[in-house]
Amino acid sequence: MEKMHSAEEFRKHAHRMVDWIADFYQEIEKYPVKSQVQPGEIYNQLPPSAPEQGEPMEQIFADFQKIILPGVTHWQSPNFYAYFPANASFPSMLGEMLMSALGAQCMIWETSPAAAELEEKVMLWLRDILGLPKAFSGVIQDTASTATLCAMLTAREKKTTSESNEKGIQHLKKMRVYCSAETHSSVEKGVKIMGLGRENLVKIPVDEAQRMRTDLLKLAIEKDLKDDYQPLCVVAALGTTGTLAFDDLDEIAVICKAFDIWLHVDAAYAGSAFILPEYQHYLQGIEGVDSFVFNPHKWLMTHFDCSAYFVRDPEALVNTFSILPEYLKTSSRGKVNDYRDWGIPLGRRFRALKVWFVLRSFGINGLQETIKQHISLTEELGALIRQQSDFVLKVQRMNLLAFYYQPQDILGQKQLNDINQQLMEQLNASGKLYLTHTKVDGRFLIRMVIGQSSVARNHVMESWKIIQDTARKIHTP
Ligand SMILES: *Cc1c(COP(=O)(O)O)cnc(C)c1O
Repeated sequence: MEKMHSAEEFRKHAHRMVDWIADFYQEIEKYPVKSQVQPGEIYNQLPPSAPEQGEPMEQIFADFQKIILPGVTHWQSPNFYAYFPANASFPSMLGEMLMSALGAQCMIWETSPAAAELEEKVMLWLRDILGLPKAFSGVIQDTASTATLCAMLTAREKKTTSESNEKGIQHLKKMRVYCSAETHSSVEKGVKIMGLGRENLVKIPVDEAQRMRTDLLKLAIEKDLKDDYQPLCVVAALGTTGTLAFDDLDEIAVICKAFDIWLHVDAAYAGSAFILPEYQHYLQGIEGVDSFVFNPHKWLMTHFDCSAYFVRDPEALVNTFSILPEYLKTSSRGKVNDYRDWGIPLGRRFRALKVWFVLRSFGINGLQETIKQHISLTEELGALIRQQSDFVLKVQRMNLLAFYYQPQDILGQKQLNDINQQLMEQLNASGKLYLTHTKVDGRFLIRMVIGQSSVARNHVMESWKIIQDTARKIHTP
Protein backbone atom coordinates (compact mmCIF):
# COMPACT_ATOMS: atom_id res chain seq x y z
CA MET A 1 0.00 0.00 0.00
CA GLU A 2 1.20 3.53 -0.74
CA LYS A 3 2.36 5.56 2.18
CA MET A 4 -0.71 7.79 2.23
CA HIS A 5 -2.90 4.76 2.85
CA SER A 6 -0.65 3.13 5.39
CA ALA A 7 -1.60 2.18 8.94
CA GLU A 8 0.71 4.95 10.21
CA GLU A 9 -1.08 7.60 8.17
CA PHE A 10 -4.40 6.19 9.33
CA ARG A 11 -3.31 6.40 12.95
CA LYS A 12 -2.42 10.07 12.53
CA HIS A 13 -5.65 11.09 10.81
CA ALA A 14 -7.87 8.95 12.98
CA HIS A 15 -6.50 10.49 16.16
CA ARG A 16 -7.15 13.92 14.75
CA MET A 17 -10.66 13.04 13.71
CA VAL A 18 -11.50 11.45 17.04
CA ASP A 19 -10.43 14.70 18.70
CA TRP A 20 -12.62 16.59 16.26
CA ILE A 21 -15.57 14.30 17.04
CA ALA A 22 -15.20 14.79 20.81
CA ASP A 23 -15.01 18.59 20.30
CA PHE A 24 -17.99 18.46 17.95
CA TYR A 25 -20.14 16.83 20.60
CA GLN A 26 -18.98 19.29 23.24
CA GLU A 27 -19.80 22.23 20.99
CA ILE A 28 -22.77 20.84 19.10
CA GLU A 29 -25.13 23.51 20.41
CA LYS A 30 -23.30 26.20 18.45
CA TYR A 31 -24.39 24.68 15.13
CA PRO A 32 -27.82 25.49 13.68
CA VAL A 33 -29.98 22.45 14.43
CA LYS A 34 -31.67 22.39 11.05
CA SER A 35 -29.28 22.95 8.18
CA GLN A 36 -29.78 26.44 6.77
CA VAL A 37 -28.50 25.82 3.24
CA GLN A 38 -30.51 26.40 0.07
CA PRO A 39 -31.21 23.63 -2.46
CA GLY A 40 -28.14 23.08 -4.69
CA GLU A 41 -25.80 24.95 -2.36
CA ILE A 42 -23.75 21.87 -1.48
CA TYR A 43 -23.94 20.26 -4.92
CA ASN A 44 -22.66 23.38 -6.66
CA GLN A 45 -19.55 23.51 -4.49
CA LEU A 46 -18.48 20.05 -5.61
CA PRO A 47 -16.33 19.55 -8.73
CA PRO A 48 -17.95 17.96 -11.78
CA SER A 49 -15.72 14.89 -11.70
CA ALA A 50 -13.72 12.75 -9.30
CA PRO A 51 -10.03 13.74 -8.94
CA GLU A 52 -7.54 12.13 -11.28
CA GLN A 53 -4.86 11.96 -8.58
CA GLY A 54 -5.36 11.08 -4.95
CA GLU A 55 -5.62 14.05 -2.60
CA PRO A 56 -4.18 14.46 0.89
CA MET A 57 -6.49 13.63 3.78
CA GLU A 58 -5.92 17.09 5.30
CA GLN A 59 -7.57 18.63 2.26
CA ILE A 60 -10.46 16.18 2.21
CA PHE A 61 -11.11 16.74 5.89
CA ALA A 62 -10.93 20.53 5.47
CA ASP A 63 -13.57 20.30 2.74
CA PHE A 64 -15.70 18.10 4.96
CA GLN A 65 -15.74 20.91 7.49
CA LYS A 66 -16.15 23.70 4.97
CA ILE A 67 -18.56 22.24 2.41
CA ILE A 68 -20.33 19.30 4.00
CA LEU A 69 -20.90 20.27 7.61
CA PRO A 70 -23.11 23.32 6.88
CA GLY A 71 -25.40 21.01 4.94
CA VAL A 72 -25.92 18.65 7.87
CA THR A 73 -28.99 18.77 10.08
CA HIS A 74 -27.89 17.94 13.58
CA TRP A 75 -29.98 15.05 14.77
CA GLN A 76 -27.62 14.73 17.72
CA SER A 77 -28.20 18.28 18.93
CA PRO A 78 -30.02 18.34 22.28
CA ASN A 79 -32.35 20.92 20.68
CA PHE A 80 -33.53 18.50 18.00
CA TYR A 81 -37.22 17.80 18.69
CA ALA A 82 -38.35 16.92 15.15
CA TYR A 83 -39.70 13.63 13.70
CA PHE A 84 -38.49 11.03 16.23
CA PRO A 85 -35.26 10.54 18.16
CA ALA A 86 -32.36 9.00 16.22
CA ASN A 87 -30.18 8.33 19.21
CA ALA A 88 -26.44 8.05 18.89
CA SER A 89 -24.11 7.43 21.81
CA PHE A 90 -20.40 7.02 22.30
CA PRO A 91 -20.57 3.28 23.11
CA SER A 92 -22.59 2.76 19.94
CA MET A 93 -20.09 4.81 17.93
CA LEU A 94 -17.20 2.76 19.28
CA GLY A 95 -19.01 -0.41 18.25
CA GLU A 96 -19.53 1.03 14.77
CA MET A 97 -15.84 1.99 14.55
CA LEU A 98 -14.76 -1.55 15.31
CA MET A 99 -17.31 -2.92 12.89
CA SER A 100 -15.80 -0.76 10.12
CA ALA A 101 -12.35 -1.81 11.22
CA LEU A 102 -13.18 -5.48 10.79
CA GLY A 103 -14.89 -4.78 7.47
CA ALA A 104 -16.57 -8.18 7.60
CA GLN A 105 -19.42 -9.22 5.36
CA CYS A 106 -21.61 -11.22 7.70
CA MET A 107 -24.08 -12.82 5.32
CA ILE A 108 -23.87 -16.32 6.76
CA TRP A 109 -22.54 -17.93 9.91
CA GLU A 110 -19.31 -19.05 8.25
CA THR A 111 -18.41 -15.60 7.01
CA SER A 112 -18.15 -14.47 10.65
CA PRO A 113 -19.46 -16.83 13.30
CA ALA A 114 -19.15 -14.14 15.98
CA ALA A 115 -21.48 -11.83 14.07
CA ALA A 116 -24.17 -14.49 13.77
CA GLU A 117 -23.87 -15.71 17.34
CA LEU A 118 -23.64 -12.27 18.94
CA GLU A 119 -26.69 -11.20 16.92
CA GLU A 120 -28.63 -14.24 18.13
CA LYS A 121 -27.69 -13.46 21.73
CA VAL A 122 -28.28 -9.69 21.77
CA MET A 123 -31.64 -10.18 20.12
CA LEU A 124 -32.66 -12.45 22.97
CA TRP A 125 -31.40 -9.83 25.43
CA LEU A 126 -33.51 -7.19 23.67
CA ARG A 127 -36.51 -9.52 23.55
CA ASP A 128 -36.28 -10.11 27.27
CA ILE A 129 -35.76 -6.49 28.33
CA LEU A 130 -38.81 -5.48 26.31
CA GLY A 131 -40.85 -8.23 27.93
CA LEU A 132 -41.65 -9.97 24.62
CA PRO A 133 -42.64 -13.66 24.62
CA LYS A 134 -39.87 -16.23 25.10
CA ALA A 135 -41.13 -17.95 21.95
CA PHE A 136 -39.80 -15.06 19.80
CA SER A 137 -36.48 -15.14 17.94
CA GLY A 138 -34.96 -12.03 16.50
CA VAL A 139 -32.89 -10.68 13.64
CA ILE A 140 -31.50 -7.23 12.96
CA GLN A 141 -32.94 -5.56 9.86
CA ASP A 142 -31.79 -2.29 8.35
CA THR A 143 -35.10 -0.51 8.93
CA ALA A 144 -38.63 -1.04 10.21
CA SER A 145 -39.84 -0.56 6.64
CA THR A 146 -37.91 -3.65 5.60
CA ALA A 147 -39.05 -5.61 8.66
CA THR A 148 -42.71 -4.82 7.94
CA LEU A 149 -42.26 -5.87 4.31
CA CYS A 150 -40.68 -9.13 5.52
CA ALA A 151 -43.64 -9.70 7.84
CA MET A 152 -46.19 -9.24 5.07
CA LEU A 153 -44.22 -11.43 2.65
CA THR A 154 -43.94 -14.16 5.26
CA ALA A 155 -47.65 -13.90 5.97
CA ARG A 156 -48.36 -14.30 2.27
CA GLU A 157 -46.05 -17.25 1.88
CA LYS A 158 -47.58 -19.01 4.82
CA LYS A 159 -51.16 -18.23 3.82
CA THR A 160 -50.65 -19.49 0.27
CA THR A 161 -48.61 -22.51 1.43
CA SER A 162 -45.60 -21.33 -0.56
CA GLU A 163 -47.54 -20.95 -3.79
CA SER A 164 -46.90 -17.22 -4.10
CA ASN A 165 -43.13 -17.71 -4.25
CA GLU A 166 -43.44 -20.63 -6.67
CA LYS A 167 -46.13 -19.55 -9.10
CA GLY A 168 -46.64 -15.87 -8.44
CA ILE A 169 -49.85 -14.31 -7.18
CA GLN A 170 -51.73 -13.53 -10.39
CA HIS A 171 -54.02 -16.55 -10.17
CA LEU A 172 -54.64 -16.22 -6.42
CA LYS A 173 -57.45 -14.45 -4.61
CA LYS A 174 -56.78 -10.76 -4.05
CA MET A 175 -55.02 -10.40 -0.71
CA ARG A 176 -55.73 -7.63 1.75
CA VAL A 177 -53.73 -5.94 4.47
CA TYR A 178 -55.28 -3.85 7.27
CA CYS A 179 -53.88 -1.03 9.34
CA SER A 180 -55.19 2.14 10.92
CA ALA A 181 -55.38 5.41 9.05
CA GLU A 182 -52.59 6.67 11.33
CA THR A 183 -50.19 3.81 10.67
CA HIS A 184 -46.80 4.59 9.14
CA SER A 185 -46.48 4.95 5.36
CA SER A 186 -44.04 2.02 5.27
CA VAL A 187 -47.04 -0.35 5.29
CA GLU A 188 -48.38 1.21 2.12
CA LYS A 189 -44.94 1.13 0.54
CA GLY A 190 -44.61 -2.56 1.41
CA VAL A 191 -47.99 -3.40 -0.09
CA LYS A 192 -46.97 -1.62 -3.30
CA ILE A 193 -43.61 -3.41 -3.47
CA MET A 194 -45.30 -6.79 -2.92
CA GLY A 195 -47.53 -6.22 -5.91
CA LEU A 196 -50.73 -6.41 -3.88
CA GLY A 197 -51.80 -2.99 -5.07
CA ARG A 198 -52.37 -0.03 -2.87
CA GLU A 199 -56.14 -0.38 -3.05
CA ASN A 200 -55.77 -3.66 -1.17
CA LEU A 201 -54.42 -1.89 1.87
CA VAL A 202 -57.48 -1.20 3.97
CA LYS A 203 -57.04 1.81 6.23
CA ILE A 204 -59.31 1.49 9.22
CA PRO A 205 -60.55 4.78 10.76
CA VAL A 206 -59.31 5.77 14.20
CA ASP A 207 -61.08 6.86 17.38
CA GLU A 208 -60.61 10.14 19.26
CA ALA A 209 -57.28 8.89 20.64
CA GLN A 210 -56.01 8.02 17.11
CA ARG A 211 -56.35 4.26 17.81
CA MET A 212 -57.63 1.79 15.26
CA ARG A 213 -61.39 1.26 15.56
CA THR A 214 -61.39 -2.49 16.15
CA ASP A 215 -65.13 -2.77 15.57
CA LEU A 216 -64.55 -1.39 12.07
CA LEU A 217 -61.59 -3.72 11.55
CA LYS A 218 -63.83 -6.70 12.20
CA LEU A 219 -66.51 -5.38 9.85
CA ALA A 220 -63.95 -4.73 7.10
CA ILE A 221 -62.60 -8.28 7.35
CA GLU A 222 -66.09 -9.79 7.28
CA LYS A 223 -67.02 -7.75 4.26
CA ASP A 224 -63.83 -8.73 2.43
CA LEU A 225 -64.45 -12.41 3.12
CA LYS A 226 -67.94 -12.07 1.72
CA ASP A 227 -66.53 -10.36 -1.38
CA ASP A 228 -64.02 -13.19 -1.84
CA TYR A 229 -60.84 -11.39 -0.84
CA GLN A 230 -58.13 -13.14 1.17
CA PRO A 231 -57.41 -11.22 4.40
CA LEU A 232 -53.66 -11.57 4.91
CA CYS A 233 -52.21 -9.41 7.62
CA VAL A 234 -53.11 -6.76 10.17
CA VAL A 235 -50.43 -4.24 11.10
CA ALA A 236 -51.06 -2.88 14.59
CA ALA A 237 -49.26 0.30 15.61
CA LEU A 238 -47.84 0.61 19.10
CA GLY A 239 -46.88 4.25 18.95
CA THR A 240 -47.84 5.90 15.66
CA THR A 241 -45.33 8.39 14.32
CA GLY A 242 -47.73 11.34 14.21
CA THR A 243 -49.13 11.27 17.74
CA LEU A 244 -47.76 8.10 19.44
CA ALA A 245 -51.17 6.45 19.44
CA PHE A 246 -51.36 2.87 20.70
CA ASP A 247 -53.75 0.47 19.01
CA ASP A 248 -55.53 -1.97 21.30
CA LEU A 249 -53.35 -5.00 20.69
CA ASP A 250 -55.44 -7.29 22.84
CA GLU A 251 -58.62 -6.70 20.83
CA ILE A 252 -56.81 -6.86 17.50
CA ALA A 253 -55.17 -10.16 18.50
CA VAL A 254 -58.57 -11.70 19.24
CA ILE A 255 -59.83 -10.68 15.79
CA CYS A 256 -56.69 -11.97 14.04
CA LYS A 257 -57.00 -15.29 15.82
CA ALA A 258 -60.67 -15.66 14.96
CA PHE A 259 -60.00 -15.09 11.25
CA ASP A 260 -56.55 -16.70 11.11
CA ILE A 261 -54.79 -13.52 10.00
CA TRP A 262 -51.10 -12.68 10.53
CA LEU A 263 -50.62 -10.00 13.18
CA HIS A 264 -47.60 -7.76 12.82
CA VAL A 265 -46.77 -5.02 15.34
CA ASP A 266 -45.04 -1.81 14.30
CA ALA A 267 -43.49 -0.34 17.46
CA ALA A 268 -40.60 1.28 15.57
CA TYR A 269 -40.44 4.44 17.63
CA ALA A 270 -42.13 3.73 20.98
CA GLY A 271 -41.03 0.11 21.41
CA SER A 272 -37.88 1.11 23.30
CA ALA A 273 -40.06 2.45 26.13
CA PHE A 274 -41.32 -1.06 26.84
CA ILE A 275 -38.13 -1.55 28.85
CA LEU A 276 -40.01 0.42 31.51
CA PRO A 277 -42.45 -1.75 33.49
CA GLU A 278 -45.08 1.01 33.52
CA TYR A 279 -45.58 0.65 29.73
CA GLN A 280 -45.82 -3.14 29.63
CA HIS A 281 -49.61 -2.88 29.62
CA TYR A 282 -49.48 -1.84 25.95
CA LEU A 283 -48.21 -5.34 25.20
CA GLN A 284 -51.37 -6.98 26.47
CA GLY A 285 -52.26 -9.42 23.68
CA ILE A 286 -48.66 -9.95 22.52
CA GLU A 287 -49.13 -13.72 22.87
CA GLY A 288 -51.26 -13.56 19.72
CA VAL A 289 -48.67 -11.61 17.70
CA ASP A 290 -46.74 -13.24 14.83
CA SER A 291 -44.09 -10.56 14.34
CA PHE A 292 -42.92 -7.39 16.04
CA VAL A 293 -40.49 -4.64 15.08
CA PHE A 294 -38.93 -1.81 17.04
CA ASN A 295 -35.98 0.43 16.26
CA PRO A 296 -33.11 0.60 18.75
CA HIS A 297 -31.82 3.16 16.22
CA LYS A 298 -34.55 5.51 17.31
CA TRP A 299 -34.78 5.63 21.07
CA LEU A 300 -32.28 3.15 22.49
CA MET A 301 -28.94 4.94 22.17
CA THR A 302 -27.94 2.91 19.11
CA HIS A 303 -26.85 4.38 15.77
CA PHE A 304 -28.84 3.98 12.62
CA ASP A 305 -29.18 1.37 11.22
CA CYS A 306 -30.51 -1.16 13.66
CA SER A 307 -34.07 -2.37 13.53
CA ALA A 308 -34.96 -5.29 15.80
CA TYR A 309 -37.37 -7.73 14.16
CA PHE A 310 -38.90 -10.57 16.18
CA VAL A 311 -40.84 -13.53 14.87
CA ARG A 312 -42.72 -16.35 16.50
CA ASP A 313 -42.01 -18.78 13.67
CA PRO A 314 -38.49 -18.30 12.26
CA GLU A 315 -38.99 -21.26 9.96
CA ALA A 316 -41.77 -19.43 8.14
CA LEU A 317 -39.46 -16.44 7.73
CA VAL A 318 -36.60 -18.58 6.42
CA ASN A 319 -38.94 -20.47 4.09
CA THR A 320 -39.91 -17.15 2.55
CA PHE A 321 -36.43 -15.78 1.99
CA SER A 322 -34.13 -18.78 1.77
CA ILE A 323 -32.58 -19.21 -1.62
CA LEU A 324 -31.10 -22.67 -0.92
CA PRO A 325 -33.44 -24.42 1.44
CA GLU A 326 -31.90 -27.83 0.94
CA TYR A 327 -28.43 -26.60 1.80
CA LEU A 328 -29.77 -24.98 4.94
CA LYS A 329 -31.49 -28.13 6.04
CA THR A 330 -28.41 -30.27 5.73
CA SER A 331 -25.51 -28.21 6.97
CA SER A 332 -26.79 -25.78 9.52
CA ARG A 333 -30.34 -26.42 10.58
CA GLY A 334 -30.70 -26.33 14.32
CA LYS A 335 -27.04 -25.43 14.80
CA VAL A 336 -26.46 -21.93 13.47
CA ASN A 337 -28.39 -19.04 11.98
CA ASP A 338 -27.52 -17.92 8.47
CA TYR A 339 -29.11 -14.52 8.66
CA ARG A 340 -29.01 -13.92 4.89
CA ASP A 341 -32.12 -16.13 4.89
CA TRP A 342 -33.89 -13.99 7.49
CA GLY A 343 -34.47 -10.99 5.25
CA ILE A 344 -34.05 -9.32 1.87
CA PRO A 345 -30.36 -8.40 1.36
CA LEU A 346 -27.68 -11.04 1.07
CA GLY A 347 -24.90 -8.88 2.53
CA ARG A 348 -24.99 -7.86 6.16
CA ARG A 349 -22.97 -5.57 8.41
CA PHE A 350 -21.88 -6.63 11.88
CA ARG A 351 -24.58 -4.51 13.51
CA ALA A 352 -24.89 -6.63 16.64
CA LEU A 353 -21.57 -5.24 17.82
CA LYS A 354 -22.91 -1.76 18.55
CA VAL A 355 -25.99 -3.20 20.27
CA TRP A 356 -23.72 -5.26 22.50
CA PHE A 357 -21.61 -2.19 23.34
CA VAL A 358 -24.72 -0.17 24.16
CA LEU A 359 -26.39 -2.82 26.32
CA ARG A 360 -23.21 -3.47 28.26
CA SER A 361 -22.10 0.12 28.65
CA PHE A 362 -25.47 1.59 29.71
CA GLY A 363 -26.87 -1.52 31.33
CA ILE A 364 -30.61 -2.04 31.43
CA ASN A 365 -30.70 0.45 34.25
CA GLY A 366 -28.92 3.20 32.33
CA LEU A 367 -31.26 2.78 29.36
CA GLN A 368 -34.32 2.85 31.59
CA GLU A 369 -33.06 6.00 33.31
CA THR A 370 -32.47 7.74 29.98
CA ILE A 371 -35.97 7.05 28.68
CA LYS A 372 -37.52 7.89 32.03
CA GLN A 373 -35.72 11.22 32.00
CA HIS A 374 -37.08 12.03 28.52
CA ILE A 375 -40.60 11.23 29.62
CA SER A 376 -40.35 13.22 32.81
CA LEU A 377 -39.07 16.28 30.90
CA THR A 378 -42.02 15.86 28.54
CA GLU A 379 -44.44 15.73 31.47
CA GLU A 380 -42.89 18.83 32.98
CA LEU A 381 -43.17 20.79 29.74
CA GLY A 382 -46.69 19.47 29.17
CA ALA A 383 -47.73 20.96 32.50
CA LEU A 384 -46.14 24.31 31.59
CA ILE A 385 -47.92 24.44 28.23
CA ARG A 386 -51.24 23.74 29.93
CA GLN A 387 -50.66 26.71 32.23
CA GLN A 388 -50.54 29.15 29.32
CA SER A 389 -53.96 30.39 28.26
CA ASP A 390 -52.78 31.13 24.72
CA PHE A 391 -51.42 27.62 24.05
CA VAL A 392 -53.48 24.46 23.67
CA LEU A 393 -51.86 21.11 24.40
CA LYS A 394 -53.66 18.60 22.23
CA VAL A 395 -51.60 15.43 22.73
CA GLN A 396 -49.19 14.30 25.41
CA ARG A 397 -47.96 10.72 25.16
CA MET A 398 -44.68 9.32 26.46
CA ASN A 399 -42.09 11.77 25.08
CA LEU A 400 -44.29 13.49 22.51
CA LEU A 401 -46.24 16.74 22.79
CA ALA A 402 -48.48 18.21 20.10
CA PHE A 403 -49.80 21.70 20.71
CA TYR A 404 -50.82 24.93 19.01
CA TYR A 405 -50.68 28.64 19.70
CA GLN A 406 -54.10 30.22 20.06
CA PRO A 407 -54.05 33.98 20.69
CA GLN A 408 -57.37 34.99 22.26
CA ASP A 409 -58.63 37.07 19.35
CA ILE A 410 -58.23 34.38 16.70
CA LEU A 411 -60.59 31.46 16.63
CA GLY A 412 -60.84 30.33 13.01
CA GLN A 413 -58.98 27.10 12.38
CA LYS A 414 -57.61 28.17 9.01
CA GLN A 415 -56.03 31.30 10.43
CA LEU A 416 -54.71 29.42 13.45
CA ASN A 417 -53.19 26.80 11.17
CA ASP A 418 -51.41 29.55 9.21
CA ILE A 419 -50.07 31.18 12.37
CA ASN A 420 -48.81 27.90 13.75
CA GLN A 421 -47.18 26.91 10.52
CA GLN A 422 -45.48 30.29 10.42
CA LEU A 423 -44.40 29.78 14.03
CA MET A 424 -42.84 26.42 13.24
CA GLU A 425 -41.05 27.77 10.18
CA GLN A 426 -39.64 30.73 12.08
CA LEU A 427 -38.42 28.51 14.91
CA ASN A 428 -36.70 26.17 12.50
CA ALA A 429 -35.15 29.03 10.54
CA SER A 430 -33.65 30.38 13.76
CA GLY A 431 -31.38 27.33 13.95
CA LYS A 432 -31.92 27.26 17.70
CA LEU A 433 -34.27 24.31 17.71
CA TYR A 434 -35.94 22.02 15.23
CA LEU A 435 -39.58 20.91 15.38
CA THR A 436 -41.95 19.24 12.95
CA HIS A 437 -45.74 19.12 12.80
CA THR A 438 -48.67 16.79 12.50
CA LYS A 439 -52.34 17.29 11.68
CA VAL A 440 -55.22 15.97 13.75
CA ASP A 441 -58.76 16.54 12.44
CA GLY A 442 -57.48 19.23 10.11
CA ARG A 443 -55.69 21.11 12.86
CA PHE A 444 -52.02 21.99 12.42
CA LEU A 445 -50.14 20.92 15.54
CA ILE A 446 -46.57 21.67 16.43
CA ARG A 447 -45.06 18.38 17.43
CA MET A 448 -42.22 18.21 19.91
CA VAL A 449 -40.37 14.99 20.69
CA ILE A 450 -38.06 15.03 23.70
CA GLY A 451 -35.84 12.00 23.22
CA GLN A 452 -32.47 13.20 22.01
CA SER A 453 -29.53 11.37 23.61
CA SER A 454 -28.18 14.39 25.49
CA VAL A 455 -31.26 16.56 26.00
CA ALA A 456 -31.45 18.04 29.51
CA ARG A 457 -33.86 20.24 31.44
CA ASN A 458 -32.14 23.49 30.47
CA HIS A 459 -32.56 22.75 26.73
CA VAL A 460 -36.25 22.08 27.09
CA MET A 461 -36.89 25.15 29.22
CA GLU A 462 -34.89 27.44 26.95
CA SER A 463 -36.69 26.04 23.89
CA TRP A 464 -40.08 26.61 25.50
CA LYS A 465 -39.14 30.21 26.15
CA ILE A 466 -38.11 30.68 22.51
CA ILE A 467 -41.37 29.09 21.31
CA GLN A 468 -43.50 31.45 23.42
CA ASP A 469 -41.52 34.56 22.54
CA THR A 470 -41.60 33.77 18.82
CA ALA A 471 -45.33 33.01 18.90
CA ARG A 472 -46.21 36.24 20.65
CA LYS A 473 -44.03 38.21 18.28
CA ILE A 474 -45.91 36.77 15.32
CA HIS A 475 -49.27 37.72 16.79
CA THR A 476 -50.31 39.34 20.06
CA PRO A 477 -53.98 40.15 20.67
C1 LIG B 1 -39.92 5.70 11.99
C2 LIG B 1 -41.06 4.76 11.87
C3 LIG B 1 -41.09 3.77 10.87
C4 LIG B 1 -40.06 3.67 9.78
O1 LIG B 1 -38.83 3.38 10.30
P1 LIG B 1 -37.58 3.01 9.36
O2 LIG B 1 -36.73 2.18 10.26
O3 LIG B 1 -36.96 4.28 8.96
O4 LIG B 1 -38.12 2.24 8.19
C5 LIG B 1 -42.14 2.88 10.88
N1 LIG B 1 -43.10 2.94 11.82
C6 LIG B 1 -43.11 3.88 12.78
C7 LIG B 1 -44.20 3.88 13.79
C8 LIG B 1 -42.07 4.81 12.85
O5 LIG B 1 -42.09 5.76 13.82
